Amino acid sequence: MDTSLNLWKKTLEVLKKEMDEQDFAALFSEVSEIYKVEGNYIYLLVPNALTKFRIEKFYNNRLNEILSTLTDSLVKFKFVLKDDILEREESSQAKKKSLYKRPLKAEYTFSNFVTGGSNRFAFISAMKVAESPESLYNPLYIFGDVGLGKTHLMMAIGHYILDNKIDANVVYTSAQEFTEDYFLAISTKKGKENIEEFYRKYREADILLVDDIQFLEGKQSTQEEFFKVFEYLHGLNKQIVITSDRSANDLKNMMARLKSRFNWGLAVDIKLPDKELRVKILERKLSFLIKNPKEVPLEVLDLIADIFTKNVRDLEGGLRRYVTYCVSLNLPFTIENVYTALDCLIPQKEEEKHLNVKNFESVKKEVASYFKISVADLESPSRKQQIAYPRQMAMYLIKELYGPSLKAIGELFGNRDHATVSHSCDKISNLINSNPLVKGDYDLLMKKINS
Ligand code: ADP
Ligand code: MG
Repeated sequence: MDTSLNLWKKTLEVLKKEMDEQDFAALFSEVSEIYKVEGNYIYLLVPNALTKFRIEKFYNNRLNEILSTLTDSLVKFKFVLKDDILEREESSQAKKKSLYKRPLKAEYTFSNFVTGGSNRFAFISAMKVAESPESLYNPLYIFGDVGLGKTHLMMAIGHYILDNKIDANVVYTSAQEFTEDYFLAISTKKGKENIEEFYRKYREADILLVDDIQFLEGKQSTQEEFFKVFEYLHGLNKQIVITSDRSANDLKNMMARLKSRFNWGLAVDIKLPDKELRVKILERKLSFLIKNPKEVPLEVLDLIADIFTKNVRDLEGGLRRYVTYCVSLNLPFTIENVYTALDCLIPQKEEEKHLNVKNFESVKKEVASYFKISVADLESPSRKQQIAYPRQMAMYLIKELYGPSLKAIGELFGNRDHATVSHSCDKISNLINSNPLVKGDYDLLMKKINS
């Protein structure tokens, strides 16, 4: 079979006989390099636009006609300019560079954002802005409690825009960073140069993403400067996206002018995710964590979703901890292991905490009166045996009865560290098995406390 280059040469041989020699040389002498073969086309590189134009206009049909007599396949010739190729390669390098330079977290994309009732409107609005920045939604103001996906959505807009327009100047900043940049810019060290750099950074943005605007509360001069940047970009029809932990109206010590600007475009809030969405998010995150997500039963996800209700970051963290715990200790993905893995992360309900504190105090009282010392003695630093022993017993009883963390027990007894508590509990546990007197104390105290 002929190679593509051979086909080209043979085609030219035929054409040459039909043409004026000089014309032929002028047009085809420099066309001898194949750029690529793709689909049904053999792409040939031509040195300049005029040659390309003339070949296409006057000889393309004839060339392909000749070609079809030389081969059974359906290939045809196409011509591309060398300069075009160079440009394309450069821009694909620019693309790589801009991917590398992206100030955005790679995983914060639209496709990784799970939607439900609490965030759907925010999601759709963000998509619209990403698809047509300079839209009517300027600025887009996204607000909601911490850990609900504001930064994620904002960065997703940035990713989307960069994916579709590689040379867009997407500037992501937090209000804190903006403040720092501003103070650096007006600091006297480098003077004018600094402020120019500051202007360059913010005023040349095509899309400005400003995270956590509430940080500007009470910062008068930074607000002034932000106002100027805002007005400047808005005037040029450049898209601005802002996030906040509150609605614009609820911001305190914020210039009225700015607040009203924040309400110019579209304000959307993200609410707490409901149970269904929490489970959906867990399922999605799980698929990033392990190869076979089906190994984790739904009831486990259900339980984790019940534990973390207020913050997606915590929800994610809980899942990650559970999976890491089970995988690294080679344990099965069970409900029980949720409790062991997440013990210290499970937020206690307020009333339970209260109940426990009351219980702890009553154990301390019983123990103190049994040994005829005071509660203050138990909490004191004293290491005398007649106090240390009751203290160790009280720690052990609380651990047995209520099972709080060792750290929490230590706090009940004059802030002792968890190693001390652990040692005390081990000691009493051993003594109960080996010393009938200690066993007697323990049994009696248990009875009194439980009655
Ligand atoms: P915020 O900026 O509101 O404090 P983030 O955007 O930082 O919250 O989100 C916290 C974490 O929760 C991130 O890891 C983010 O990916 C994740 N997250 C929040 N909402 C969602 C969602 N709807 N789908 C997937 N991940 C989410
Ligand atoms: Mg955030």
